[in-house]
Amino acid sequence: MIPVVRDAVEALLRSAPPMPRRHERRPSPARLRAGQECQPPRRRLPPPLAVALLLSALFVAALLVCSCRLPIQRGRWNVVVVLVDTLRADHLGAYGYGRPTSPRLDALAAESYLFTDARAQASCTYPSVNSLLTSRHPARFLGQKDGALGIPPRIPSIAELLAAHGFTTAAVSASPVVRQSPTRFNPHGGFSRGFARFDESCLWKDAACVTKRALAVSERLREPFFLYLHYLDPHGPYDPPQPFRKDLRLARTRQPWALRGDPNPLAKMLDGGPKIDYAPRDVRYLMGLYDGEVAFFDSQLGELVDRLRERKLLERTILVVLSDHGESFREHGTMKHCRTVYESEVKTPLLVRLPRQREGARVAGPVENLDVVPTLFDLLGIQSEGLGFEGRALLPRLNGEPPEERVSFAMINQQRAAIDGHYKLVADLAAGKAQLFDLSTDPGERRDLAAAATAREPLARLRRELEAFLAKTEGEAGLRQSEEADQRLRALGYL
Ligand SMILES: [Zn+2]
Repeated sequence: MIPVVRDAVEALLRSAPPMPRRHERRPSPARLRAGQECQPPRRRLPPPLAVALLLSALFVAALLVCSCRLPIQRGRWNVVVVLVDTLRADHLGAYGYGRPTSPRLDALAAESYLFTDARAQASCTYPSVNSLLTSRHPARFLGQKDGALGIPPRIPSIAELLAAHGFTTAAVSASPVVRQSPTRFNPHGGFSRGFARFDESCLWKDAACVTKRALAVSERLREPFFLYLHYLDPHGPYDPPQPFRKDLRLARTRQPWALRGDPNPLAKMLDGGPKIDYAPRDVRYLMGLYDGEVAFFDSQLGELVDRLRERKLLERTILVVLSDHGESFREHGTMKHCRTVYESEVKTPLLVRLPRQREGARVAGPVENLDVVPTLFDLLGIQSEGLGFEGRALLPRLNGEPPEERVSFAMINQQRAAIDGHYKLVADLAAGKAQLFDLSTDPGERRDLAAAATAREPLARLRRELEAFLAKTEGEAGLRQSEEADQRLRALGYL
């Protein structure tokens, strides 16, 4: 381990109290399952017609009262993964937002599994998307030769694996990072391996382009297929079309950069760059534009779902909606993303809709984007043993089993987070400092409990978990390579 990482980890561990007890989990969320809660009531022996009527009435009542769902069936379904770059979960109605940013996603959530506590592995497109597509922790992708950002040849991606299992594969990406061919921000591409078709015609374009290309591409795909769609709308600059710009406005501003929807001057100043004038209303104005971008994407997600439904494809397709990271608006002193592992940047939506699913369910407990590929393989009935996935299949959670005791991790630059679903440790490895937040009472991470006597046990436990994770996943490389990647993208103006 490089000295600065080793010293930081040792500094974190030095203040840990000896042999703390393990954190006791809170009770699991309600278990709602057909077969468990929808048993017809015991009957007595009145005349046959009365029995039939009574049973019919009770059966209908049971259906109405119980959250009965069909048992999950594995099969060689199509898979559509919709990744929305820079979409924080708490700006969606389905995740409790009070503004009308996501009526179509909320409607989709009503017939999907919605994971209430999902996170991305990193707060930057690279290496978050690499991690998602391979079910590997992000440190695997740092420090590649010649500044490459893509998926290294030795690590198979979901597209390659599904192609080997007979799936037709295609992608449509608006991202300048998730690319087949080089861009200024990604000099070697490297995300297209395994995709028979990687459509780059929507580079930097809005959701209407991605949806249009997605529908055109999907028409020609032999089933079963895997289709990856990378939307970019909530990513800065924030420039939603009307009426989304006007309808979601939050404040007024006179700052030219804010009027342009450009968070970069403020982001750079907060990173230590040139000073500019700004007021809280300017940040609010930018957030209103961001919400407008989310709402515009949402309308296009609705268009995509409507057309897939019309073509009956939803009947035989697993649809996943998620994001690679969130976006900060000065909640912790920074703007944009790729800067911190606070919730604004790593807490992301995760929806999984199964073929013919009609009823939604909210699934509590921490999960990670790393879990998506193993979950898809499980749903498709494809053996994933020996493929090196580092996430966990979530099928037991869809089947109503309570959350496992687990700790999830997120990273960017010098920051690392360890989250157990209740507490969250945010560690700055370079500074050797740690913060602890109780997410159950403080989801905005306002009150640092690291010095509180009552928090000694979770603090010590999460420090140990993080130290073990760093030793396993990062070794000599992590911090330095993470910083180098950050500096490279920053110099190019992407961050
Ligand atoms: Zn991104």
